[in-house]
Formats: sequence, C-alpha cells, structure tokens
Amino acid sequence: MEPVQQVLDAAHFAAEKHANQKRKGGEPFINHLIEVAHLVSTALSEPDANLVVAAFLHDTIEDAGVTAAELTERFGQDVTSLVLEVTDDKSLRKKERKRLQIEHAPKLSVRVQTIKLADKISNLRSILSNPPANWDYERKKKYFDWGKRVVDGLSAPNPILKTEFERTYQRFGEVQP
Ligand code: ZN
Repeated sequence: MEPVQQVLDAAHFAAEKHANQKRKGGEPFINHLIEVAHLVSTALSEPDANLVVAAFLHDTIEDAGVTAAELTERFGQDVTSLVLEVTDDKSLRKKERKRLQIEHAPKLSVRVQTIKLADKISNLRSILSNPPANWDYERKKKYFDWGKRVVDGLSAPNPILKTEFERTYQRFGEVQP
C-alpha cells in the first residue's frame, strides 16, 4: 500500500471505531486523532508513515476496545507495537495510570515519545479551547501540570513539538484569571 493510502486507511478505521465518542469538552473524538497525526507528520525530519498511522490509532486499544491482534492483521506488527507502547493499562486506577505515565516517559522509544508529545499538546489545546463544563481553575491547572511532568520526563522529545508544547502550556497562564 502507498503511504498515503495507509494513513487514510488508519483515519477511516479510527473514525469508525471512535464514531460515538466525544472529548471531555464535547468535540468529536476523531478531531483529537486527526490533530495528533497531523502534529506528528509535521514534526518528522524523515517520512515515517507507520508512525503517522500509529498516531491515528493511538487510542483504539485504550478507548475503543480494539485488540492488538486486530491492529496487527490490518496494520502490521510495527504499528501495533507503537500503539501498545502508548496504551495505558486500564485495569489500574486512574491515579496510578497517571503516575505511571510520568514514570514511563523517559523509557519510551523515541518514535513513541513523538506521539506522546503530540497527544499532550492536543489535550492541553482542547482544555484551552473547549474546557469541560465542570472543570474549575484548579482542576485545569492540575491537568496542565501533570501533562508538563510527563513531557518533561521524555528523554528524546521532538524539538518542534517540544516548543509547541511549551507555547501551549504558557497559554494557560495567559488565559486564566
Ligand atoms: Zn490521545
């Protein structure tokens, strides 16, 4: 398959699997996946179609009940291992999963660190532009600071995305009281 077809196949698959899901602030979930895949694609110094495919699929196992076997059959082993590496263990409590993201950040493979960074940028942007209705200032601040701790733990962050993350993080202080 041509790289462009591969990426569109992933977009199509993700759109189907996340069809009924919304983000915390109400936007369609697929917007998040398109944003993450786009951020990853713009930050790469060399083409890596599998990484863009994995960016589209990064929440399919965690949030859409897709199995690793299903991903391997359709997208291959490389894509599946990238997605697995960025997938939280849902059998753990939320607090523990958040702590583990900080602990695991330095050990992630360089490619997966790029997805992780793009994911965090997208998550912070959505809190800025479309905050969940029931989140007060403290809750947002805590979320931003947790995201920053994960990103600060990355051992090989993509420089373009790291700059964009810092810019996004700074905006919190500017728009909040
Ligand atoms: Zn995500």
